[in-house]
Amino acid sequence: MTEKKQTTYRIGPIRPPSEANSLLLQITGGCTWNRCKFCGLYKHEGFRAFTVESVKADIDVMAEYAELAKDYQCEDGTWNKRAALERLNQMTQEERNCYYLVYRWLVNGGENVFLQDGNSLAVKTERVVEVLRYLRERLPSIRRITTYGRAETLSKISVEQYKALKEAGLSRIHSGFESGSDRVLSMINKGTTSEQEITAGKNIREAGIELSVYFMPGIGGKDLSEENAMETARVVRAINPDFVRIRTAVVKDDTELWQDYLDGKFKLCSENEKLMEIKLLIENTEGCTGTLASDHIINLLQEVHGSLDTDRRKMLSMIEAYFNLPEFRQKIFQLARRSGMVTRPEDLELLPSERMEKLAHFAGSVTDELLWDRKMNDLMMNFI
Ligand code: SF4
Repeated sequence: MTEKKQTTYRIGPIRPPSEANSLLLQITGGCTWNRCKFCGLYKHEGFRAFTVESVKADIDVMAEYAELAKDYQCEDGTWNKRAALERLNQMTQEERNCYYLVYRWLVNGGENVFLQDGNSLAVKTERVVEVLRYLRERLPSIRRITTYGRAETLSKISVEQYKALKEAGLSRIHSGFESGSDRVLSMINKGTTSEQEITAGKNIREAGIELSVYFMPGIGGKDLSEENAMETARVVRAINPDFVRIRTAVVKDDTELWQDYLDGKFKLCSENEKLMEIKLLIENTEGCTGTLASDHIINLLQEVHGSLDTDRRKMLSMIEAYFNLPEFRQKIFQLARRSGMVTRPEDLELLPSERMEKLAHFAGSVTDELLWDRKMNDLMMNFI
């Protein structure tokens, strides 16, 4: 009896927003730690490392779909989308998802791949190297391969091992540091220390792999707000990562941190406290040359991004302009922003007057500051 041909591959649940057009290759499932108090992502699943053979089989399916899709590329480089997607009619739903991901990837250049899931470098380096080599062999248009890694795991990988990964094609590592404060890291049960963050960051940078770290303004709560920013700045200064990505903290109601909030052990930061943390981070990372990236709608002032070297003044003046607004105007902007109506404070001018009246009425009716912070957090839950 002949074995049924594999026609689908695994697709995991997460990728950074910057990898929206990347091909997703799942080499692991879940997270090795799974205990961060603010994270409910893998609550119901354990960590799995897939065998090299099974990952190679997934890559083979991707390569076959790439061959199939390429038939629909015209000589001038454009795509016959209608004909390419007509293929979908002959496929199962799962096959469609897999084919479409490869097709969309090719249309977007076919260059970037993201290795899923939450902590893929927990797998032995030799295994990842083997997968990377095979991936590039089967899909030669690849130019950039990135993945997620926990700082604690990353700190145990040597410079030589990182060099082997780079040689095999790994270009960038994303790591959710969240904070550089040991007190904050311990409070959120991150399972890492700032020393591990620094070791990991330095090793990655030394091997020539790009490093993208995530900072969560507000994750230390009111009590540790300033420390969260200052200690993160210390870690950023020690490493000088290529990217510091801002992910403003949202306390979701299915997490342990939410329970801490309900129990009064964790106090939500206000929108302005969280923004002040970003200001402190920028002010205290002089000498760094990486990019402060704000690629998530969850950040209050999403346009505050740029080079930590050359754009610091511009970024600080944007924050300053917001803080110079009358307090009530700030409050209206927070509400409009968290309701998905505007991006920048100036956008308020474009809202119809009846809508502005409604916003002002609601903003005026909530005078308790803690209740307001809770309401903003509730609205932000809609975005993640
Ligand atoms: S390391 Fe990342 S994926 Fe794992 S529990 Fe923490 S936040 Fe969630």
